[in-house]
Amino acid sequence: MRIFNSILITVILLTLISCSTREEMDEFNNQDENLEKVKERIKAYSPTKISADISNLTPNQKKVIELLVKAGQVSDDIFWIQNTPDAISIRDSLKKSKSESAKIYLDYVNINYGPYDEIYGSERFVGDGPSIRPDGGNFYPTDMTKEDFENYIVENPELKDEFTSLYTVIQKDGDGYKAVPYHIAYVDKVNQLAKYLEEAAKYADNQSLKNYLLLRAKAVRNDDYYESDLAWMELVNNDIDVVIGPIESYADKLLGYKTSYESIVMVKDKKASEELAMFEKNIDKFEARLPYDKKYIRETAGKGTKLQVVNVAYFGGHGQQGTKTIAASLPNDPRVHQAKGAKKSMFKNMMEAKFDQIVRPIGNIILEPKLRKYIDKEAFTSFVTLHEVSHTLGRGYVYGKKDVTVASMLKEKYSFLEECKADIVGLWNISIMRELGLIDDDYVQRTKATYVAGLYRSIRFGDEKAHGKGNLIQLNYLMDKGAIITNEDGTLGINNEIFFEVVGELAGKVLTIQAEGDYNAAVNLEKDYGNVTERIEANIEKLKSIPRDLDTTYDFK
Ligand SMILES: [Zn+2]
Repeated sequence: MRIFNSILITVILLTLISCSTREEMDEFNNQDENLEKVKERIKAYSPTKISADISNLTPNQKKVIELLVKAGQVSDDIFWIQNTPDAISIRDSLKKSKSESAKIYLDYVNINYGPYDEIYGSERFVGDGPSIRPDGGNFYPTDMTKEDFENYIVENPELKDEFTSLYTVIQKDGDGYKAVPYHIAYVDKVNQLAKYLEEAAKYADNQSLKNYLLLRAKAVRNDDYYESDLAWMELVNNDIDVVIGPIESYADKLLGYKTSYESIVMVKDKKASEELAMFEKNIDKFEARLPYDKKYIRETAGKGTKLQVVNVAYFGGHGQQGTKTIAASLPNDPRVHQAKGAKKSMFKNMMEAKFDQIVRPIGNIILEPKLRKYIDKEAFTSFVTLHEVSHTLGRGYVYGKKDVTVASMLKEKYSFLEECKADIVGLWNISIMRELGLIDDDYVQRTKATYVAGLYRSIRFGDEKAHGKGNLIQLNYLMDKGAIITNEDGTLGINNEIFFEVVGELAGKVLTIQAEGDYNAAVNLEKDYGNVTERIEANIEKLKSIPRDLDTTYDFK
């Protein structure tokens, strides 16, 4: 591919030299084959405006949001530097070109934060350079291998801490290497970001938010985030929340150390927060009514993570790259988990957008006509919330063994089973809430139809992800047991008579596997139900025209 690229470039250069009147960067026109591919792939991302309602906020709070978005945009700038060495130069030269093809490439470069495709194997789709994204992004010298890194530390053991730090970039230094802290490598940007946070703190009337913003500004200036992470967990009665700084290390595919800058500016959703409180208030009742052997049932459900339902005002940096998440559980520092636990934010307006663009269209294709009127946005976001609450139900430790976690017993089978549990137990809890008189029949009906449509959302692209596998197990199980029916015309129906009976049965199976830490049973469940079967494949075929994800923009610029 490298050889191919250099031939291509030679051809392009000759073309450019031979016709000097051409627009700058017109060479992108020559990559026709790529252009068609990119046009196709862009369609997978539906252009979507994400709005957060801030009309109820005070003038000071609105000012805080405005300044946090500015800080977030600086965070975005830094991720452009971090992701790949040539991301910015390619973006900026495409911007200068007037050609149609450059515009299309630019759109896709903006989605991917560089010339490499986030979804399709990190392959380059524009410009010259390595055909696959360097695993180390721009965190390490492009030609540095894992072995180079590890050998260098063996030879220079005193450098280990700074080299493996989450907050340094590795650069060449004469014949060797050096680690440069983020606050030095990106010094101008970091100072700019910190100033916006300090400015925002001035307008923050909520004391806990003010305190957090000031500590966060200090943290980005010295790359010590512990204190500010604690302060983030201590936010109380805040209408506004923000996650900002270097957070996740997924973009470092070489060693997984280096964190990417990102930003999430959030406004709390009052109504959804009340519903969440209702779910949480009933959590011990849910635990007591779990459909498996009574001996496994705990007196109180686990406290687990703090939950909040928010609307996103702005995503920047790593969080804005490629597919958009609908929830985030943070911080990542285990010392903070130990001291304060963790906080999971659910992004309601992002979920709603995915519902409109993806879940409803899926439902309108695969469900039988009489069920389609029940596909409902509120039912979707409520169920996602209930899914999160249901993660805290059932056993985290194996029954009768105080120190053995379920995760340690189920190993690589744990993730998909835990996701499957959160869904199926969440659904079971709908029947419990109906029994307790907390919701009506209409709510139940809307949840069921929306749930079936929602199952197809993540299995469309195979079973490789935990959510996809968990959903396949539910779908196959409910189909096999006749709770979900396939009509002669291929549409799906629901057998209301037995629906919750079957749901309870699967919930009981999954919960029991966890309680017993039964690895073999998990393997068998996956083998029996975790596959893309022919009938599911047939439905997936019908969903090709539905976007895979969103290309989001925000109210704030
Ligand atoms: Zn989950």
